[in-house]
Formats: sequence, C-alpha cells, structure tokens
Amino acid sequence: LNTPSDPAGRLVRLLQELIRNACVNDGAGCAESRSAATLAAFFREYGLEGRLLARVSGRDNLILRIPGTDPSAPTLAFMGHTDVVPVGAELWDHDPFGGELVDGEIWGRGAVDMLNMTASQAVGFAEAFRAHGPFPGDLLYIALADEEASGHYGARWLTDEHWDTVACDCMVSEIGGYFIEGYRGRSAAVGVAEKGVAWLRISVRGTPGHGSMPFGAANAAERICRAAQRLKKLRFPVQRGGLYDALASAAALNRREELLLKSPFFGERALKKISATRNGVARSLHAASRSTASIGILRGGSKINMIPEEASLDLDVRLLPGETLDELLPRIRALPGLGPADAEIEVLEYFPPTSSNPSGALMEATASLLRESCPDARLLPVLTGGATDGRFWRRKGTDVYGFTLSGDEMSMERFSTLIHGRNERVSVAGLERSLDYFTRLPERFFREWGNGY
Ligand SMILES: [Zn+2]
Repeated sequence: LNTPSDPAGRLVRLLQELIRNACVNDGAGCAESRSAATLAAFFREYGLEGRLLARVSGRDNLILRIPGTDPSAPTLAFMGHTDVVPVGAELWDHDPFGGELVDGEIWGRGAVDMLNMTASQAVGFAEAFRAHGPFPGDLLYIALADEEASGHYGARWLTDEHWDTVACDCMVSEIGGYFIEGYRGRSAAVGVAEKGVAWLRISVRGTPGHGSMPFGAANAAERICRAAQRLKKLRFPVQRGGLYDALASAAALNRREELLLKSPFFGERALKKISATRNGVARSLHAASRSTASIGILRGGSKINMIPEEASLDLDVRLLPGETLDELLPRIRALPGLGPADAEIEVLEYFPPTSSNPSGALMEATASLLRESCPDARLLPVLTGGATDGRFWRRKGTDVYGFTLSGDEMSMERFSTLIHGRNERVSVAGLERSLDYFTRLPERFFREWGNGY
C-alpha cells in the first residue's frame, strides 16, 4: 500500500504522524524538528532532499526548492506550519494527539490549523513534480516552525535572515477554503488580505498601601478596571464596500438580508439580528467591516492585603487595511483616564495590514480548479482577521493566498469553531480534495502564467 501510487493513503499517514508528533507551541518553546524530520523523510521517498534550517536547536524549518527551467518564470511556493496550539482543559471525544481515523475523519490538534494543509501540500508537491516537473519556474515547499507564536523561529526569521532561500513570487498557505452558503449559492473563501495587528500593554500606577486601610487610596487595580471599561468606548469607523460587501452578498440568505447588511443605515441592526442564529457569520462580517479591540489579559496586585501599586492590561487590536498605529494611539489617548499623565502605553507588537493582488495567475488557476472540483462554487476573496505567516512574505512583495479545496462539510461556521477549538478534525474526503488541488496547481499555475496572467 505504501507506494507512490497511493498518494491519498500516504497523505492520511503523513497527517496522522504530524498530529502524533504533537509540536505544541505554548509560546515558550516547541519541538518542530520532529515534524520537520517526518516531512524530510517523506520527501526522501520521492528522491527529494529538503533543507533544514533552525534558529535554535530543535526548531527546524524545512525548505525544499526545485529549480525551474525558465529564469523569467515566477516561483510558486506552498507554505505550511508544523506547530499547533496547546489543548486546554476542554475534553475531547478522541485523543487530541492520537491522529485517530474515526468515521472517515482524522482527529487531532492541527487537523484544521494547519497540518491538513502542510501534509496535503507536501504530498501534492511531490506528486506534481513526479508527474509534470520540472516546471518553468521554481517550485518551493516550506514547512515553518513557530507560526502560532509570531514566527520568531520561523517566518519572521527566515524572511529577515534567509530571504534568498525562501524568496518567491506567489504563495499558497492558510487561511481559506471553507465554504460560505447563501441564497446566491456556494462560495469558497480565498484569503487575499490580512488585518494588521497592534498588541498594546496599557499600565497604570497607584500608591501602595495596606489593604486594611483603603480610605483615599489610589488603587492601581481599580484604575485598570476603569480603563478597561472606557476602552469599550473605543469605536472604529465602519467601512463597508469591497471585500465586506462581497462577503455579505455571499453569506446572505435572501436579497433583503443582503441589502440590509450592506446598508449604512441598517447594517448594524442586520448584523445583530443574524448573530442570534449564525454567530460565526456575524462575527466574520463584523470583523471584516471595522478594526476591533479586545482585552486579552488583565493584571494587578500580588497579595490580597496589599493595595496594588501597578496594574496593566494587554489589548489586542486588529486594524483594517488603511488604518495605522499612528491613528490608533491618539484615539486611545483621548479616552478619559488614558491620557499620557494617567497611563503608559507600550507597543508589544505591531504589524500593518497586508494584501495581495486579487487577480493574477494563481487566482486564475485556483478558480479553474475549484470550478472543476465543485462546479456549483465560486471563489470569494476575503479579508482574514487572524495573523498568519503569509504577512511576512506579503511584506516582501510576494502575492500570498490562503486557500485549499475542502470537504463539503467545511462551512465557515464549522471552520471557525474547530480552529484552535475542541474536537478538531478533518474528513478524508476533504484531504483528498486538498491533495488534488495541490497536485494540479503547479501545472495549472504555470499554464496561466504562460497565457499572460
Ligand atoms: Zn495556522
């Protein structure tokens, strides 16, 4: 069974192994070398030798480049990550690191984010090369460490320090491929843009004292709670049109709902209304129409009988394309109790919004492969709210798209529930579709490129 003639079977076993490797990234560290070795061994069976690159020992990235035949042709890259987020206290119905095959589905942390793609890209890459390679341009496969903790040992480091090794013109990665159903039919999302990330730490000070005598005390914990309340007043302008309107049209269940969602007067009410029954859709539409801010961590005090001297909160801001940190900070400063005299604001991390060309050879190739595999579905360019490693390449000028072909069950609602959630799992039917996409994409991409896209 374990021959190159059984790519789907190989894909299932590869994904199972990647899940069982349990490369859990808790921000403090991760052992991605296990999965980099698994992938290197997989490629070796095809006679392909990947290159391992690590910033620190144990955290290998795997890079495999097959040179093209035409120096003027673009480089096409498949990019995935091997790390996964931890499993919390939530109970799963099957072992999150067992990679079990149950009723046609592979279970485990990373089955959706994004070992399914990392694996199907690997098999697709090897099969595409075996069947049709070499191609006019370079074909590049990248399996990254540290995606789940901002890429300091993966994407960020490689694009900064090893650009020649990972340079490419077009890239396919996460997040996309889930289906959106509305009255106009079915759409498959392709991520063409990403919101910016601004992670801020807001700190306030008070006067320390004994908790038994609080009269007149300046309690930093109380101050930070007031600041947290005031941050709710941080309003970002709602921007409809463009990708938001396209998503609203794709998700609306009838013409009336579509018009309301796009309306500057009724749009907010329409969002509230659909959030009752389609929460995932409502949250996506909300995030696509404005920048958002969410408090992730609140800190203050260390002992019950001490009045805290300092307290802080960490704010997760996601910026729409066109908005910048320079506009955000004055808006926060203008809130009562958050002026320069009252609070300190530290920028923990900032990465501006990024976007890619919404047309071009890769979009053309993807649209035609989607039509052949799912004739009823059309490609829907979307703005991704979460930050992915693709942004590091976009920053360098690469056109990055989040896409794979998914199983019919992978709705936006299901996708957003499973990603980083409990009972993460992917259907074998979906994996096979994904494999088909990555196997056929290089040939189709270079053909579209040859046609002048
Ligand atoms: Zn991911």
